[in-house]
Amino acid sequence: MRMAKTYHVRQLNGNTYLIEEKTPINQGLCYLLCGEERALLIDTGLGYRGFKETVMELTKLPVIVANTHAHVDHIGSNHCFGEIWFHEADRPTFALHADPAYTLKLLTAEMPAPMRMLVDVLTRKLRRVDTSGNYHYFGDDKVFQLGGREVEVIWTPGHSPGCVCFLDREARMLFSGDSVCEWGVLLHFEKESCPPKTYLESMERLKALKEAYDAIWPGHHGYPVEKSYVDEYLTCARQIVDGTAEYGTTQGRRCAKYKRILITVPKET
Ligand SMILES: [Zn+2]
Repeated sequence: MRMAKTYHVRQLNGNTYLIEEKTPINQGLCYLLCGEERALLIDTGLGYRGFKETVMELTKLPVIVANTHAHVDHIGSNHCFGEIWFHEADRPTFALHADPAYTLKLLTAEMPAPMRMLVDVLTRKLRRVDTSGNYHYFGDDKVFQLGGREVEVIWTPGHSPGCVCFLDREARMLFSGDSVCEWGVLLHFEKESCPPKTYLESMERLKALKEAYDAIWPGHHGYPVEKSYVDEYLTCARQIVDGTAEYGTTQGRRCAKYKRILITVPKET
């Protein structure tokens, strides 16, 4: 039997590629933005074999990794590349997600014991993150210079304290990681998520920039995401803060719902 392919590439324009990681336990989206001198690799997935080779087939330029945040399913193949960056506020998140016991707890929080054991076995190798590498940390004002192409960091804390989006004004593309996705945004992680008010401010920041991008390229699920989703996340976050949100449950977690989207929150919210 042939193994299903893990990585699927789509060319988004002349010098931008989407790399989709698709397995029974994860679907994630990474992006390769090529300049004239360097390429920026936004996120590296959960760390399956073949990721580096997939990237190397697309460019011969030196590759810089920039993580939208330090969750385990975005940093898995970081160590395969020479230079790695993420927001300084996510250094504690990185430490948490490099701990296989912690990520198992996250993955299996709502599962019965037999399922938990199965997920443990299936993901054990992947959860052992290789944390070696040439790490650097940016603040809020970082701009990556790729040679004839600039990519700005936009700090959007919420899902984790060091969540960022990357903005390419020339290409009019916003790469949003887990801060804006088609299905929903998760703010329920007890040790890492920020208060909803912080996420609300992040969405205000994205809304203020809305003339600078046409579409949003997220870290998971469907793509691209229409930029009108930012308004829905903004409204939903405001309703949580105001106490007027409508709550439901998704995958055993409490969430606020608004139009097409949902935001998960800690149980006691
Ligand atoms: Zn995440």
